[in-house]
Amino acid sequence: MSAAPLSGPRPPRRIDLGGVTVDLLQIGTFRSDAGAIFGPVPRTTWEPLVHAEIDAASRLLQSLNLLHVQTSEANLLLETGMLAAGNTQQDEVVHSVSARDALLAARIDPDALRYVLPSHLHRDHAGGLVTSSGAAAFPKATIVAPQAEIDAVASRSARARAAYDAPLLQALFAESEPEPFITERQLLPQVELRLLGGHTPGSQATIIRGSERTLLFMGDLFMRPWQANPRWVTSYDDAAWVSVDAKAAIFAEAATEQWLIVQSHELAAPVGHLVADRDRFRFVAE
Ligand SMILES: [Zn+2]
Repeated sequence: MSAAPLSGPRPPRRIDLGGVTVDLLQIGTFRSDAGAIFGPVPRTTWEPLVHAEIDAASRLLQSLNLLHVQTSEANLLLETGMLAAGNTQQDEVVHSVSARDALLAARIDPDALRYVLPSHLHRDHAGGLVTSSGAAAFPKATIVAPQAEIDAVASRSARARAAYDAPLLQALFAESEPEPFITERQLLPQVELRLLGGHTPGSQATIIRGSERTLLFMGDLFMRPWQANPRWVTSYDDAAWVSVDAKAAIFAEAATEQWLIVQSHELAAPVGHLVADRDRFRFVAE
């Protein structure tokens, strides 16, 4: 077995949707237990798919993928990566720069962002909302999140307490209150937000419509290409049944309309589209 090494930031990739540009920033990598990511899928099925990628502890190599979106009206950031840049966390090794530093390195002004949209508020998506000293990393931007996700952070459930960095997020939200929505929000003429749930109570999808192409980003409901099968959900999904149904519905829409999709944790080929395949879908990289 040869394990792929951790690596830091990669050069951004620009995607032109027609009147809207999207910069894919891969700000670093971390390792996750493969069995937990494959959830209900037996090891004999998943192992051949990732044998070159997993390390001796059976951990996958995961990328931290962020999207910087420029429309005619506003600049947005989807995802913020992790807080603990370059550090070893309890159960995972991380090699990453902060979202703010990644934007600066790409010559993007972090203070020109109007909105910051984490797909959900788990550590590897919301960690970059704050700086290493605990201050707001994007003080001029508005954080938008489903009310269900904001409520989940405050939940007394032991599962929520393990999944969210609640003290850090609650201190941040006390200073810069997020703008909540319930099920859907048309944030800008080209940008639509939809509550999907499943992975977390408030996992959201962002749909960006350019004049030539539509792009879908749905956080950890689609982190790696094999999850094009709606039934392949992670052990971290709070409500697997909700995830499977939400994925099946939005994947059908994405496949029919040939939407471009960017995956949240795929390193090598995170951009592509879905093709219907029997009772599931197949991801085709572009
Ligand atoms: Zn994640």
